[in-house]
Amino acid sequence: MLTLFLYISALDRKIVLLQDFQPLCAIATTSIGADRLRSICQPNNPVWVPRSLSSIAGVQAYSGSLKSHVAELWQSHRAFVFCLATGAVVRIVAPLLQSKATDPAVVVVDEAGKFVVSLCGGHQGGADRLTKIIAQLIDATPILTSASTSLGLPAVDLLGVPFGWHKGKGDWTEVSAAVVRGEPVQVIQEAGSTLWRSTASVRRSHLSFTPSPDATAEIWITPRLIQDARSRTPQIQWHPRVLWVGIGCERGTSRQLIEAALQQVCRENQLAAEAIAGIATIDLKADEVGLVELCHAYDFPLRTFPAEILSAISVPNPSPVVEREVGTPSVAEAAALCACLDLPETKHHTDSDRNVTPKLLVSKQIFKPNTPTPDSSTGAQPCAPTTPDLTGAVTIAIAQSEIEYTGRIGKLFLVGIGPGAIEQITPAAKSAIATADAVIGYSLYIELIAALLQPQQVIETLPITQERQRAQRAIELAQWGLTVAVVSSGDCGIYGMAGLVMEELQAGDWDGNTPQVQVFPGITALQAAAARVGTPLMHDFCAISLSDLLTPWQVIEKRLIAAAMADFVTAIYNPRSQSRVQQLQIARDIFLQYRAPNTPVAIVRAAYRQDEQIYLTTLEKLLDLPVDMLSTVLIGNSSTRTYANWIITPRGYLGFVPEMKE
Ligand code: SAH
Repeated sequence: MLTLFLYISALDRKIVLLQDFQPLCAIATTSIGADRLRSICQPNNPVWVPRSLSSIAGVQAYSGSLKSHVAELWQSHRAFVFCLATGAVVRIVAPLLQSKATDPAVVVVDEAGKFVVSLCGGHQGGADRLTKIIAQLIDATPILTSASTSLGLPAVDLLGVPFGWHKGKGDWTEVSAAVVRGEPVQVIQEAGSTLWRSTASVRRSHLSFTPSPDATAEIWITPRLIQDARSRTPQIQWHPRVLWVGIGCERGTSRQLIEAALQQVCRENQLAAEAIAGIATIDLKADEVGLVELCHAYDFPLRTFPAEILSAISVPNPSPVVEREVGTPSVAEAAALCACLDLPETKHHTDSDRNVTPKLLVSKQIFKPNTPTPDSSTGAQPCAPTTPDLTGAVTIAIAQSEIEYTGRIGKLFLVGIGPGAIEQITPAAKSAIATADAVIGYSLYIELIAALLQPQQVIETLPITQERQRAQRAIELAQWGLTVAVVSSGDCGIYGMAGLVMEELQAGDWDGNTPQVQVFPGITALQAAAARVGTPLMHDFCAISLSDLLTPWQVIEKRLIAAAMADFVTAIYNPRSQSRVQQLQIARDIFLQYRAPNTPVAIVRAAYRQDEQIYLTTLEKLLDLPVDMLSTVLIGNSSTRTYANWIITPRGYLGFVPEMKE
């Protein structure tokens, strides 16, 4: 017989929150500091300590000076977390800083764990985000001093990061300053997602999406290269990756020729190379060395399509010669268009302002080395300069996709937010919420966690009846590359959204990894309700939902009988709604067959929320009290008792043996 072991590393699951910051270097110079950082960074990031502290478990000792140690690690690490005085950290990192576009995140945690300071690389290095994650994990105050973060305004140099946009030319400092000063700044968006416009930070700013004569700065979001030297208005250019380059080439065409041809096409058509999503071609070329090398060098995905798919696409310049050779009249043009259609997100996308018809921006052009003038028979163009590296022949076409390629692996955080009060949410769940690009949930829950939401986050609420739509939307955004937190009250995996998201993922042939999923548990209603009335759950217990919308009533009734018979303390979820009033009565009657009429019962409504109500009663009188969909009903077992407004279910420490009613 075959035995299957499925080993899931605890480490794999733990690193998701800090994953974007790997490799991360944690450094402490005292044992308290080392403990503090170990709790944040381990198990995947051992804490560096001086030799004198090397006896502490789970640390790594550096020899020599801390300054030279940090200098050695500086280039190879994405983030540094110090537990050290900020002054000392400033002195250590100052000589290493080069540019805010490339410097790693530098974060400082104080020894007492009260503060987490985003010291350097706040925006592009991600230090502000890392600071928020760590602060939530250790319940400290995050110190963020960048103007846009403090004012809750859009950080223009981070605007396109969730969508994988690339930064182009521009006066980034001046345009950022104009936004922070609250000046009117005009946005000219020609491509890419418009989701970012719905964020609180944008609503708070003076960005204008229509022509604005008094604008003091411009933000261009475009695949084009804007070169308006006459304009004196400071501007920046973000380039969403919407350009799919279709390529056909002779076997053995050099990477240099393809690269030179591509640069020439971009230049002549005023397209930004930063807006290139990737390369598309026929499957026969999947191993074409020049293409593979080019994709590797620029981190472009290479999408390949079989001839039957390509030949079904109508293109402006079909070629009978190509058709005879490879079985499709077009490779470059057809592949570029196919790549635009092939994006997984185009299948699901529901953004109302998009349609999914790709357009061919540049029809096919043929490039050959050493062609002195465009060849009139083939239309081939020369690629300057001519060097020995330029071998073969390449055909290039470019299509523009409606939806940008993000180049990111999305994440789904399935988060339980507990019963209601912010302090009942786990630190890990808080971190997950604070770090997500988008937060999706029922509006009441979004209101409950308002204090944790970030101004730059995309927040989407859907009515309580539209759980499936909520799950599908979350999956769609995560498949596209965003980090999405789906919030549910209580525990997300107990009658919550997590199960639905998992079922939807499975229905969509999810491979288990992309998007990545992490579930963040929360305090479920039965624990919250129990805590408010004492210790009713101290013996075996179960939860039963009376909602028969998804579960047949016969099944629910069978479980009620079984729970009552087995003397489980029972938590009733979804006990009664406006339209479902009978079920609770039936449940009570079933329990009365097996338990005494004076069995203690607690009705806890809106536990840990402003409008919390708690009633202690008995099984017999249960129906005399108000019970609604915000209530959880706890029914004691045969030995549960009340004592001075508390409910206690004995475990047996004092020799009590539970007795079942015959
Ligand atoms: N995932 C949630 C349960 C959702 S089902 C959890 O783990 O708690 C909805 C039911 O949960 C409600 O009908 C009610 O019975 C119960 N519930 C949720 N929040 C509650 C609260 N704050 N107080 C009491 N009951 C609550």
